[in-house]
Amino acid sequence: MSGWLRVVLSLCWLGCLGGQPVETVIPRPARVIVISLDGARPDALQQADMPHLRRLAAAGAADWAAQTVFPPATLPAHTSMLTGLAVADHGVDWNGTNPGCPPVEPPTFLTLAERAGWRTAFVSGKEKFCHLVQTPGMDYTFALAGDRSITDRALALLDDGYEVIFLHFPNPDYFGHLHGWMSDIYLAELGQSDAQIGRVLAKLEDLGLAAQTLIIITADHGGHDFEHGTRRPEDMTIPWIIAGPGVLPGAALAGVQVTDTAATILWALGLPSPPKLAGRPVCAAFGLAADGLGCQPSAGVDDAVGRAR
Ligand SMILES: [Zn+2]
Repeated sequence: MSGWLRVVLSLCWLGCLGGQPVETVIPRPARVIVISLDGARPDALQQADMPHLRRLAAAGAADWAAQTVFPPATLPAHTSMLTGLAVADHGVDWNGTNPGCPPVEPPTFLTLAERAGWRTAFVSGKEKFCHLVQTPGMDYTFALAGDRSITDRALALLDDGYEVIFLHFPNPDYFGHLHGWMSDIYLAELGQSDAQIGRVLAKLEDLGLAAQTLIIITADHGGHDFEHGTRRPEDMTIPWIIAGPGVLPGAALAGVQVTDTAATILWALGLPSPPKLAGRPVCAAFGLAADGLGCQPSAGVDDAVGRAR
């Protein structure tokens, strides 16, 4: 079902044969799932009881010191995560809900994937994400009852054959604001989020999709005391974990930005990137040199690329 992304390396990154560039084939995923753990600090993920997340990170690659955008707030950061654009270029430097909920203008990776024929879905735990619904073709759910209800919907979407899915888990942020970031209750709640991650992974196994699914788990921002939104490292530092087809287990990642999420997905799906893309594909996760041939975002959303089946 999935196509193949053929990559020619210009550098002797993995070793050259007789001095010649070597060719590597990266499998194109049949599914993509991004899980954003709202307000999840990476040091908290490493302290909390999160066996499913740890297993995924061990099977894939992780940057435990990735960086989000300023302001480190839910809507600006998620807009950067989903569009790959800097805040100045997508313009969402506010964090509320405007009347009528007009969609942000620059396309998200979900919109670009939908245009290329993928079945896309967005499950949100906060109402203000309505600003990121840009097309009627994407399945959008505002699930009111937290991480578990997000996951309930996600499992149904997987049963129904949806292919590119964004899941927003709101609970870590709620518990950070209520009980304090890094409090015992905040850390315990991350364990509950992990149980929901486990349900998603189990569903992929049940459907026989686990090996074909590219998964990214990240966050929009961290937090300190009972808040976030400052330039403090506790607010700006986020986790970024990737696993799935072509990902090199244990690959060393560094310097990942929240905007790299959209860039990596567009690259992995073979989709063209929008103008002014700030993010870069995290090619090190696939054992490729950054900026090497085969690790360049495709230019120009107008050059529509059909889906390789
Ligand atoms: Zn948030």
